[in-house]
Amino acid sequence: MVSLANFTSWRVGGPAEWFASPNSVDELLSLITWAHERKMPCRIIGAGSNLLINDAGLPGLSLCMRKLQGSELDAQTGIVEALAGEPIPNLSRRAAKAGLHGLEWAVGIPGTVGGAAVMNAGAQGGCTADWLESVQVVDLSGKEPFELSCDELGYAYRHSRLQEKPLVVLSAKFKLEPGFDHEELHRITNKNLTHRTTTQPYHLPSCGSVFRNPEPLKAGRLIESLGLKGHRIGGAEVSSVHANFIVNIGGATATEIDQMITLIQEEVQAAHGVMLHPEVKRLGFEPTT
Ligand SMILES: Cc1cc2nc3c(=O)[nH]c(=O)nc-3n(C[C@H](O)[C@H](O)[C@H](O)COP(=O)(O)OP(=O)(O)OC[C@H]3O[C@@H](n4cnc5c(N)ncnc54)[C@H](O)[C@@H]3O)c2cc1C
Repeated sequence: MVSLANFTSWRVGGPAEWFASPNSVDELLSLITWAHERKMPCRIIGAGSNLLINDAGLPGLSLCMRKLQGSELDAQTGIVEALAGEPIPNLSRRAAKAGLHGLEWAVGIPGTVGGAAVMNAGAQGGCTADWLESVQVVDLSGKEPFELSCDELGYAYRHSRLQEKPLVVLSAKFKLEPGFDHEELHRITNKNLTHRTTTQPYHLPSCGSVFRNPEPLKAGRLIESLGLKGHRIGGAEVSSVHANFIVNIGGATATEIDQMITLIQEEVQAAHGVMLHPEVKRLGFEPTT
């Protein structure tokens, strides 16, 4: 039995009924077909850095994309192609080394390329949609993969159509800007990483920001204004470093984190009349996921 807690950055989540971490796209397609033929639900886990998985675990097949790594960068044209499991900080570093400008913001996001395409991950003024050309996807029947252009993905703040459709991202193509000084790109990349590690609780298990910002307001400021920093439910704590982070201070359960999410929503709604919506994806909490 595989515990999904080992595959989420919060370190919570119950067992998978079936679990696989394919080494190649062909293996992945066979697994998807295998689940489809058995009418099993099939869930996709990237780096698990934006996932809250129920303590009861997940029925059907849980597919982890982490081993599907690899990328090719063309320093002349700026075209970058990466498999879905490639860690986005690796790609950010490699792009900087090749003198390709565009992904300096991505260095501190502990997710995969596939997860970034689904979530439209972003930071420090940049986001995935700004640089993505297209993704190669397959549906959950495991039939022929096909390409979707960036325009077809309906990108918005931390949103894409990929969140609404049962599609698996196999790879992504980016168009970066070539010809930049790689030392300058390294300097910016390092500065971005330092800024994050000094203003966010990177030393404890978390999922990054839990709630989307109700623009123009900041979720963290609303939560902080209620004195919730440091508030605990079991092992789940509203970070005292950044109020939009819920950290696992040891032994937290998904139920405790879920209870904390609800408590924050209720208190912010009561005090500010604003409903905070989680950015984090919940698996196994249907029908509310
Ligand atoms: C310390 C920390 C800091 C963070 N900072 C930021 C930040 O600054 N900005 C930001 O945007 N996010 C941030 N995050 C959140 C997270 O890293 C991003 O949302 C990231 O893009 C998620 O990628 P992942 O591979 O971990 O996806 P997962 O968390 O594994 O999955 C997220 C969703 O995408 C789906 N998915 C994943 N891969 C695929 C695939 N190949 N095909 C189809 N569906 C897929 C999953 O089913 C799920 O619905 C942070 C997280 C942490 C822990």
